[in-house]
Amino acid sequence: MIIPADPWLSVASERLEAARVWLADRGSDYSETKLHIFDKPHFFDAGASFLEARCPPCRSMVSMEAWGCWMDEDSVGKGFRLKPKRLDCCDGPAVTLNELKYEFHQAFGLCAVEGMNLDIGSFSYTDIKELESLIETSISIVYQHI
Ligand SMILES: [Zn+2]
Repeated sequence: MIIPADPWLSVASERLEAARVWLADRGSDYSETKLHIFDKPHFFDAGASFLEARCPPCRSMVSMEAWGCWMDEDSVGKGFRLKPKRLDCCDGPAVTLNELKYEFHQAFGLCAVEGMNLDIGSFSYTDIKELESLIETSISIVYQHI
């Protein structure tokens, strides 16, 4: 899942489509690619690879229970507000759900380019730079394991 690094950034659909074509060209006959566009930030999860969430400054673990309540609290309609919140673990700055350090990486965004069964493993630095030049912004990649 290729997502703009900025969770509030809308990317023109032709830019997303160019990235989708790039992905489709690298896939196999079994690959599928598609675009996702939302009105409000959507959560792109790591599926079965979601193990933990940590506070960015102090690296304390946010319990799954606390994280679940925060997700409920922050959700609005079919998306999220990404309202900054102070955590109890330290006196660091308020952070949003998108800024937590997830293992494996997860992110929020208004749009995404999805590639399924690509057989790519992980993207190289050059791949990322190419995708960023197509989408015209920094990207965040969420590997979703189902
Ligand atoms: Zn902390």
